[in-house]
Parts: sequence; C-alpha cells; structure tokens
Amino acid sequence: MIPEYIKKTLKALSDAGFESFVVGGAVRDTLRGVPVHDYDVTTSALPELSKAAMEKAGFKTIIDSSARFGTVVFLDPENNENKIEITTFRSDCDYTDFRHPEDVMFTSSIEKDAARRDFTVNALYMDAEGNIKDPNGTGETDIKAGIIRAVGDPVTRFQEDALRILRAVRFEAQTGFVIEENTARAMKETAHLLKNISAERIQYELTGIVTAYNGPLAVRHNLEVISQIIPELLIQDGFDQRSRYHDRDLLTHTLDVLDGVPLKEDGKKDRAIAIAALIHDIGKPAVFTVDENGAGHMKKHSIAGVKIAERIAKELKFSNKLAHEVTELVLYHDSFPKPERGAVKQFSAMLGFDLYEKLFVLQRADIAAHSPLGLARMQLLDQIMEVYRQLREENPCMSINELAVSGNDLMALGYPEGPLIGDILKDVLEKVMLEIIPNDKDDILCYVRGEYWL
Ligand code: ATP
Ligand code: MG
Repeated sequence: MIPEYIKKTLKALSDAGFESFVVGGAVRDTLRGVPVHDYDVTTSALPELSKAAMEKAGFKTIIDSSARFGTVVFLDPENNENKIEITTFRSDCDYTDFRHPEDVMFTSSIEKDAARRDFTVNALYMDAEGNIKDPNGTGETDIKAGIIRAVGDPVTRFQEDALRILRAVRFEAQTGFVIEENTARAMKETAHLLKNISAERIQYELTGIVTAYNGPLAVRHNLEVISQIIPELLIQDGFDQRSRYHDRDLLTHTLDVLDGVPLKEDGKKDRAIAIAALIHDIGKPAVFTVDENGAGHMKKHSIAGVKIAERIAKELKFSNKLAHEVTELVLYHDSFPKPERGAVKQFSAMLGFDLYEKLFVLQRADIAAHSPLGLARMQLLDQIMEVYRQLREENPCMSINELAVSGNDLMALGYPEGPLIGDILKDVLEKVMLEIIPNDKDDILCYVRGEYWL
C-alpha cells in the first residue's frame, strides 16, 4: 500500500537509528480506503540528521529553509514527481498571532507530537509494514465512525490557530465525516478569529470546501463559520423569495445549485463554477421588494451580486482569471440569449467558449433547483446549447495553426514573446470562428491593434 519511495525513506531513517512514520492525510485516507494524494513523513531525527540520513540513501534535499520549524523536503532520485516532506516530532508552544507558534520544540516523544496535531483522524502514525500507532487513543475509531474531533481542548486549539476551524469544515466537505459536538461548538465560539488568517489560506480552504462533493452540507452545518468570510450568506438562511418560480428558501436553493455542479474526473468541481454557485444569488436580499399582491421581486440581483463578488475576489486575493470567471458567471447566471445563431454567437464572443461552457453548467444546476414552474427554463437552455453545439461543429478543424496570422506576425508588431501571444491567438481564433472578423491577415492585425494596446 505504501509506495516504494516512502518505504525507502522510512528505511533510511530507521537505518540511521531513528523512529519514523507516515502521518496525517496519507494515513487517514489509507484507512478510509480512498486514494492518497501526498505522503507526509515524521521522524524523531532532528532536521540536520534526517538530511544526512536521506542524502546517504541517495535522496536530494530540495527545501531546507523551513528546517527551523522541523520540515525538510526531499526529491526521489528515481522519479522527480515524488517529493517527500519530513517533519521532526515537535511540540508547539506560545501561539501569539492565532496562527503561528512562536517557536517549536523538537521532541523524541510521539505522544507530544500527536498532541499538537489538529484532529484525531490526522494524528495517526503508520510504519512501513502498515502498523498503526494512535497516541490520542480515538483516531482509529473516529475514522471508522466518521468523526472529526479536535485533539485536546477544542476552544484552546482553535484559539492557538484559527485556520484549524476552516480545515475542519474542509475535512467535512471532503470526507463526509461529522464534526463532533464539542468541536463544532468551539468552532462557532472562535469563528471570529478567522479574521487573523491570511487571504491566501482562506481562499485555499474555501476552494477545498466548495469543490468537494459534500461541500453543500458542510456549508450548511458550518454557516456561522463560512459567514465570517461571506457575511451575506447568513441572511439567506430561511429567506422566502415569495416567488412561484421557487419552492425553497434562498440558502437551500443556493446549496442545491452548488450540489448540482457536477464533479470532474478528478473528483472535484470546477473552482470558478463552484464559487459562483455559492454566491450567484448573493445580491438578492439587497434588491428584494414585495409588490401589492405579495409577490417578491429581485430585479437586477445579478448586478448587485457582482459588486459583492468583486469584493470577495479582492478580499480573498483571487487571481485575475478566477476573479474574472466568477464575476462573469454571477453577472450572466440569469441571462439567456434567444436560441438563435446570431444571439448565441454574440454571447460566445463576449464570454469566450470556455467560460460560456462553464456558464451552461451553472445555469443547468440553477434551473434544476427551481420549483416545477421554474424548471420550464431548462427547455430554453437546451435549445441554446443545441445552437451553440452546431455553431462549434461548423468549424470542426479550425485551429490556431490555420489562422492567417502567426505568433511571429504579432511579435513583429511589437507584442512581447510569452503567454500573451497565445492568449491573443486564442481570442482571434474565437472571433474568426464566430465570423466576427474574417480570417484575413490585415483584418486580424487591425483587430489585435485595437483590442490589445501596446
Ligand atoms: P490533506 O493533505 O489531505 O489536505 P492533511 O491532513 O495531510 O490533509 P496537511 O496540511 O498536509 O493536511 O498537514 C499534514 C498534517 O499536519 C495534518 O494531518 C495534521 O496532523 C498536521 N497539521 C496541519 N496543519 C495543522 C494545523 N494548522 N494545526 C495542527 N496540525 C496541523
Ligand atoms: Mg497532507
């Protein structure tokens, strides 16, 4: 079960006289019977000594800048894809910024190492033969029962490092495990400490939550935590839209849409679609009005939503591409062109093929989470998608190579070598396929000059 290069690692350390184990997600996922995505190794050897032992066995040190915290990273000489992270047993002390320990203390005690880990299911140790050590005592049974339980006193552990709160939600989303009662209560109590956590880490965990199969339930169960990041979600809970097109409250609708976003081959949802699903209706409560007949209206909620989406993208430091995709998906989630060639062509040109196909996925999930009356729109979406399919089929072998301009032509105009050239050619190809510009050198260069300023 354990790959050869990890067995070699454990042997290198034990030959040098140290204890060593696989720990963390790899043990958790092995016991759950799901694929392991990376192996963390822990050892009684101090960083310098594990370095010496590993290099003697032929491994290459690639990162030792974090040795102060006990972690050194190595490369398997037989396969460059295999990185091995080795961390010395340690006990953390004195957290002062709700995230980083002031200092770490190395220890030869596996019990102390287990006590500083976040959840019992993440604090199991496996040797080369697959034997398990469970110093906290409930790790193995918690995995069998599907329970996420903080190691030690949960409030203290979340006060030490608030990132653990979000990690718990992500583990619930990814494993379908249930967060143990005291741990869940402590998460609510300390959720406000998430303001101390960096945007990058929050973005990473939030992405992990929404792209996982159990994301919708994890968000519902941990709404107080998630609304520290996106406060507008809280009011969605129980929000009655008073519309014949809807038969469930706004949060249930939102989470059903997220649930309807399909998993890709890698078992995860597309990041932009999943984030957009979570916030597609985030603008609704702000524009909600009730008419004299008691019916709710939410005109221009997409535009109100985009403003909030832009703020979230900025706060969480989304990349430009992710921010663009999410805001466009929110803006157009409720927009449907006539199912005619010209209109569909225009939409395709505006969004680009990739993003338009993501919008289709979001719209399908959105429509499916409406009342039976609201479901009628699915026919329209199907018609639009059929027109789109025909449009794309018409130019089956059109490729960048067949364009009347090449990357060299663009560079001759002064555009710098690099990814921009590829982006421009992709854009030009779409415009040519959509017959917005003819496949003619002068026309294309004229378009490029106007669209991409040097
Ligand atoms: P995955 O890699 O699937 O996200 P993992 O459990 O391996 O899950 P890592 O971030 O790779 O998570 O961390 C490895 C191990 O280090 C964890 O299993 C846990 O024991 C410990 N750990 C990581 N982050 C923390 C933290 N913030 N507080 C305490 N222990 C942590
Ligand atoms: Mg890991």
